[in-house]
Amino acid sequence: MIEIRNLSVLYAGNTEESLSDVNLSLQKGDFICVLGKSGAGKSTFIRCINGLQKPTGGEILLDGKTITHAKEEELRKIRREMGMIFQHFNLIPRLSVLQNVMTGTFGYRNSFKNLFGMFTAEELKQANSVIAEVGLAEMANRRIENLSGGQKQRVGIARALVQQPRVLLGDEPVASLDPGTSDRIFTLLKEMHERLGLLTIINVHDIELAKRYATRIVALKDGKVIFDGLPKDFKESE
Ligand code: ADP
Ligand code: ADP
Repeated sequence: MIEIRNLSVLYAGNTEESLSDVNLSLQKGDFICVLGKSGAGKSTFIRCINGLQKPTGGEILLDGKTITHAKEEELRKIRREMGMIFQHFNLIPRLSVLQNVMTGTFGYRNSFKNLFGMFTAEELKQANSVIAEVGLAEMANRRIENLSGGQKQRVGIARALVQQPRVLLGDEPVASLDPGTSDRIFTLLKEMHERLGLLTIINVHDIELAKRYATRIVALKDGKVIFDGLPKDFKESE
């Protein structure tokens, strides 16, 4: 589904590449946890996949079509196929759960449209349905600022999935949550992953969490892939 070929990223002003000759083939159904210490290149990797970061070498293909050399309009279409969740949730605190989820239906750039109620009944229905799926049915009208961390990430997940993407990306989505909450968020992610038949790619620094949930672990070190395989074969020293 996603082919990554000789991917390299050298940020302006750096001497070392942040990603170096990464080659991976990612399939629908893979629940991939990307492991690596801080600075290993995990965020850069995720940003390349959703087209936010232009690589300096190599290419990424989605179903055979280039993401790397896509024009802006094409890139918008590609991004609609990808939902993204974040460490700090990136929600609008003074708006409700429903309003935040609605920002996902038009993409981030056009989110202000939604604030004025310019969405269709169909979009509203889809939003309420996904809010229920993440376990927040009773909280649709509550403001984000009144939610717990775990609840906020549930809203993040609902927003990422409201457009019915095929790929779910996460950049350290549980790094700000306690272990119990992190575990419940991963349970939810895995459930949605299976139900919707997604390709899921999530950065984590917690090896135990990755081993418990991933179907496949990719480990990065200094921008290079040092492991790609089954969780049971991953050794911590790597
Ligand atoms: P991780 O997510 O694993 O912590 P990152 O992808 O954030 O890793 O960073 C990988 C390397 O790239 C680090 O050495 C970091 O300092 C560098 N880096 C990340 N973003 C930038 C940037 N915008 N400009 C310059 N260097 C960057
Ligand atoms: P936190 O511990 O920060 O509250 P959780 O992720 O544990 O975060 O749960 C967030 C909220 O989601 C809970 O308070 C509850 O309202 C709701 N919730 C959690 N699990 C379920 C579930 N299986 N079904 C319905 N609602 C749930």
